[in-house]
Amino acid sequence: MSANTLSEHHDNFEVFQWNANFDTGLAIIDEQHKRIIDLLNKLARTLIKEDDIGFTDVFEQLTAYANYHFETEEAIWIACFGDDEWLVSHQSSHASFLPAIVDLKKNYADRPLKDSLREILKFLIRWLVYHIIDSDKRMAIVVNHMGTGTSLAQAKKISAEEMLNSDQILIDTILSMYDELSARTLKMMQERAEREIVTEKLSQANRELEKLATTDQLTGLYNRRHFLTVFEQELRRAKREQHFITFMMLDLDYFKRLNDDYGHLHGDAALNQVSQKLMLICRRPGDFVFRLGGEEFGILLTDQNSIPSGEFAETIRAEIEDLKIPNVGSQIADYLTVSIGVISKIPDASDELESYMKAADSRLYKAKAKGRNQVIDHD
Ligand code: GH3
Ligand code: MG
Ligand code: MG
Repeated sequence: MSANTLSEHHDNFEVFQWNANFDTGLAIIDEQHKRIIDLLNKLARTLIKEDDIGFTDVFEQLTAYANYHFETEEAIWIACFGDDEWLVSHQSSHASFLPAIVDLKKNYADRPLKDSLREILKFLIRWLVYHIIDSDKRMAIVVNHMGTGTSLAQAKKISAEEMLNSDQILIDTILSMYDELSARTLKMMQERAEREIVTEKLSQANRELEKLATTDQLTGLYNRRHFLTVFEQELRRAKREQHFITFMMLDLDYFKRLNDDYGHLHGDAALNQVSQKLMLICRRPGDFVFRLGGEEFGILLTDQNSIPSGEFAETIRAEIEDLKIPNVGSQIADYLTVSIGVISKIPDASDELESYMKAADSRLYKAKAKGRNQVIDHD
């Protein structure tokens, strides 16, 4: 679901839905009731958006409009009821309304706005449902009957009879409001579940993208880009904790010949085989194997090994030779071999990625110059 539809949901959200049972039969009063309910729903939406300023603003609009509405309503009642007791009790109900919500607001003044708003909404909904269905309708029936010439006493009697089932109307109204709300809650839960699925798919796709961005496609090893990231990170940590960083640069010997003699696909398979072996050997949590390019690999060891780095590199060299990947073009062996340059030191403040790279590279160069298929771990 887009953010747009989400906010449309909020903009239309109603905690109180108009229902035909709220019709009193007097058009002006019904219009004004609808306006009050609109404002109540608007007030509820400030709760969703945690909009404090909006809340104060709408709250003032609502109280002002309620006052105006009570005046309009009472003018209509007075014209028919005079000083009848029904009017007196209706007026006292109106009079209790504003002080009650102002009190609620005051009581919650030092609590989060959400709490106070929830209490005010609860009060408003209850008050309006009872007041409209029980009291306003009763009064409106009298007014309508007097309009056709019936006396006040007679109209009151008719209204009382018609309102005998007001409890039933109340129950019906509340149940249909409940139906509406529960249908909406269900729909929201469904949408939420859908959103969760989409979110999960998105983060799955993100994880895959991330993996794609950090790995070399052919071999599945970390790529050069990730090498730069990991190295910087590990170098900072090693400087902080003052521990060794071991970096090895590996380059396959006479690999061009292997390609030439057996074909490029065969070359690819050999690169893969070497990669799998390197991953197998360097499998501790602080070990990282990278394909730095072509037939060139990098190994970063961040946890102090029990065996010296030179010996560890020698194991790697021997294991690659032991793969016995035929390379008849090699001038130094029957099989594919590797040359390795190693640097292992606790970094000092001035050490950077380049200093490790340079040292490993020059030792690798030396290993090549001295005849290949060997490890050099000193200058
Ligand atoms: P040296 O012992 O001096 O390292 O000689 P070399 O032949 O290994 O080195 P050189 O740099 O001359 O050649 C490297 C070769 O690696 C050339 C290139 O075709 C091959 N190569 C680079 N990337 C790939 C790849 O992804 N797949 C295959 N099959 N070959 C590759
Ligand atoms: Mg090379
Ligand atoms: Mg090579």
